[in-house]
Amino acid sequence: MSALDGRKPLVLDVRELQRRAGAMMKIQRIAPAPVDLENPMIGIPVDTDLNLDLMAESVIEGVLISGTVSAQAVGNCSRCLTPISEPVEVSIQELFRHADLAAEDPDEDLPTFEEDLIDLEPTLRDAVVLSLPLAPVCDPDCPGLCTQCGVPLKDNPGHHHTQTDPRWDALSELFNEKG
Ligand SMILES: [Zn+2]
Ligand SMILES: [Zn+2]
Repeated sequence: MSALDGRKPLVLDVRELQRRAGAMMKIQRIAPAPVDLENPMIGIPVDTDLNLDLMAESVIEGVLISGTVSAQAVGNCSRCLTPISEPVEVSIQELFRHADLAAEDPDEDLPTFEEDLIDLEPTLRDAVVLSLPLAPVCDPDCPGLCTQCGVPLKDNPGHHHTQTDPRWDALSELFNEKG
């Protein structure tokens, strides 16, 4: 693994804890979002602001990072495809072990760090991706799209098709099965 760059905004420099158990430090900063904080429907755009509000606590085995990360996610309603934007706030709690201690006791499946630099990015990505809704909606009552012509029903109250051609029925059943 290549050495971490302590100037990168998602690399936390915990040197001031000096490996003294019980020592704590606040980490509050705004970092640009890295790639892949997303699912197919919604995500946090690259380089938009991530607000980190974290606490680093030195414990015997390493450093416990806890707190919240908040950002604005953008995507599309899963029912009507309207663009949407919603705040996301995720809790982070992860113990990063000192690499030298982890080498003595490699059983535990915890992230490790060396030289007082903790790479928060993988932990952050897991937490954010898990917290994003798989089927975001513009409104909990969003009625979706007309299965016959595809117009958003939200913007067209009372929309309906008077002509009932049995071929349309067969088509709409197909769409309903898909949706
Ligand atoms: Zn919608
Ligand atoms: Zn229609």
